[in-house]
Amino acid sequence: MSGCDHAIEYVYQYLDEEASFFTKSRVRIHLRRCPPCMSAFEFERQLKSVIRERGKSDPPPELFATLRALIQQERESNESGM
Ligand SMILES: [Zn+2]
Repeated sequence: MSGCDHAIEYVYQYLDEEASFFTKSRVRIHLRRCPPCMSAFEFERQLKSVIRERGKSDPPPELFATLRALIQQERESNESGM
């Protein structure tokens, strides 16, 4: 089970309220078992609220790049730890 890439895609849908009930359930299950994705989810959620407060519609692309790099790092450190 290595659904992190998919989970992150779903996280965006989840936060945009575009995800189906089934997708949301899958995201929740994955987040519970996967701390890196959970922190990514929290990051995105907070990011969204900040953006909403500022009245902007889209986050800057480099923010997503930073986030993905962060997740990749977490995953690699987890794998080498085993
Ligand atoms: Zn994950």
